[in-house]
Amino acid sequence: MKSLWNDQAAAAYSGDLGLRVYTSRLLGQDKSLVMHGGGNTSVKLTETNILGEPEDLLYVKGSGWDLDSIEAPGFAPVRMRHLLGLAKLETLSDSQMANELKANMTRASAPAPSVEAILHAILLSKFVDHTHADAIISVTNTANGRERVQEIYGASVVVIPYVMPGFKLARLCARIYPAEARPETVGMILMNHGIFTFGATARESYERMIELVTLAENYLTRLGAWTIVVPNIPPLDPAKPLRGDLAALRQALSEVAGFPVIMASHSDSQALGFARRRDVNEISQKGPATPDHVIRTKRVPLLGRDLQGYKKAYEAYFNQYSPQSRQPLTMLDPAPRVILDPEFGLITIGQTAKDAAISEDIYRHTMDIILRAVALGGWQALPAKDIFDVEYWELEQAKLQKAGKPPVFAGEIALVTGAASGIGKACADSMLARGAAVVGLDINPKIETLYKRPDFLGIRCDVTDEGAIATALENASRSFGGLDMLVLNAGIFPSSRRIESLSLAEWQAVMHVNLDANLAMMNAAYPLLKLAPRRGRVAVIGSKNVPAPGPGAAAYSASKAALNQLARVAALEWGADGIRVNIVHPNAVFDTGLWTEELLKTRAEHYKMTVEEYKRNNVLKVPVTSHDVGEMAAEMCGPLFAKTTAAQVPLDGGNERVI
Ligand code: ZN
Repeated sequence: MKSLWNDQAAAAYSGDLGLRVYTSRLLGQDKSLVMHGGGNTSVKLTETNILGEPEDLLYVKGSGWDLDSIEAPGFAPVRMRHLLGLAKLETLSDSQMANELKANMTRASAPAPSVEAILHAILLSKFVDHTHADAIISVTNTANGRERVQEIYGASVVVIPYVMPGFKLARLCARIYPAEARPETVGMILMNHGIFTFGATARESYERMIELVTLAENYLTRLGAWTIVVPNIPPLDPAKPLRGDLAALRQALSEVAGFPVIMASHSDSQALGFARRRDVNEISQKGPATPDHVIRTKRVPLLGRDLQGYKKAYEAYFNQYSPQSRQPLTMLDPAPRVILDPEFGLITIGQTAKDAAISEDIYRHTMDIILRAVALGGWQALPAKDIFDVEYWELEQAKLQKAGKPPVFAGEIALVTGAASGIGKACADSMLARGAAVVGLDINPKIETLYKRPDFLGIRCDVTDEGAIATALENASRSFGGLDMLVLNAGIFPSSRRIESLSLAEWQAVMHVNLDANLAMMNAAYPLLKLAPRRGRVAVIGSKNVPAPGPGAAAYSASKAALNQLARVAALEWGADGIRVNIVHPNAVFDTGLWTEELLKTRAEHYKMTVEEYKRNNVLKVPVTSHDVGEMAAEMCGPLFAKTTAAQVPLDGGNERVI
């Protein structure tokens, strides 16, 4: 591991707090040091308060900030005098501690200080860095981890046995550290947890972190335990679709969880190699690499697909340890967050695609950490009771009580055709805004880069190609686990032509996209919609031309009318599966690619109107936007339409011919 310190880059940050930000970000950049909110850093500063008195403060990482992106406001200023006083108390509950930390900040708007604030305060150095470095955990999570640490570091570190993070850990360090620190001591190793380093400058503390972690890496390398050899496993046979099995597993998982979940599967060599190891049963069932991963991965992954067995074991674990808690505990959902399956590989689960991606990141590191410890002679995790204490920590339980309702489509997956622009993009946006993961299909390659976010998958797809539809659904299911909502939007609007000059070829081309492709999509999507945890939903983007066709638009009007009829039959046939099919009929949506300023002007002039009048040429005199249509399509998939199927809702500002 190399120091990323760069004088030029550092010069952009001013003062001690600025450099604290800089080196915190350097730590955060390396996922083998910290991941997703893990780790924390601090700097001790003296400032003059409003009364003109000097005050010693600890600027410590606040909760809700990640080290890789932290900024100065992400550090909470807490009075040192109070922190050192707290460190002397015999007992303090963690919620009392959280209150004391918050009540002794000098900036009321600062985030809640890290629960390790007291520990940072008692270490006298100006800068303190804390990470959960993979290499350190690989060494400490072995049968003779403590001797190994001694062998690697000698007196340059003080070793702290495992205790629960928070006040207990601060207390223990306050006792052990002063007694055992030697002049050459530059860090602390926390067994089964991580490492602290400290220094007089931001650079010194950071580079000590890099040096100490490198020593552990070198030790592992010497013993042939650093580089993990990934077996070369051929990719899964694309001809053998997994989407039906994946969607069935997701349905069962969602039932155990009590809410719909996103389920991401990973079948690369690392994932399949680990899931197929002969000793996977033994090494994967001991516990997480470091206790705070439990929030993201649960204590152990599910091996295979026996969800009911996992649920029973989780309930037994809760029933065994919860009576020892001081206050009554609420059981978390008993669904796994990680599954290891010899066929699927690694599956990670979350209420959002982001959560599933975080679990993946953490478990990929966990697999390496486990295999390194195995190479050292044996992987050992903390006893289940210690993991339980972190999973059911009073501060985590408090967060649970405070957490608001998740967005209406949290954990659900929507597929939108023609999603790269116009109404399709608006539908995707409305679905994303309601918490759904979205699969956007479009023939335009721009769809692939439309959004760079974990809950969006853009797939270039010609919806008239059945093979391409199957591949898209397969990818969607591997990325998110299945399909809950389908928005049929893709379509073409040919230029105006009277029937006597409409060729059969042109007619068929319109039917092919606006009608046939939707049948193919419904056909392929049905088995997945049937397995949707909250029942499948289809929103069809129809047209005003269904109830009120226009001259010159025979092919378009007929294709949309046929699609309308197809949707109504689907509502009849799929109702028994709980699948709802509703239709929106928009009209005069001018903010799409079809309508240029030029075209709008010409059409307005044709009707002897201004463009603004033309846009509002309806009973209510309101313009209709693609956003309006997206919102309607999303609402049709939501609770408002829970008891409605085959509805046809005009979205046209009121059209006299439709009325
Ligand atoms: Zn920690």
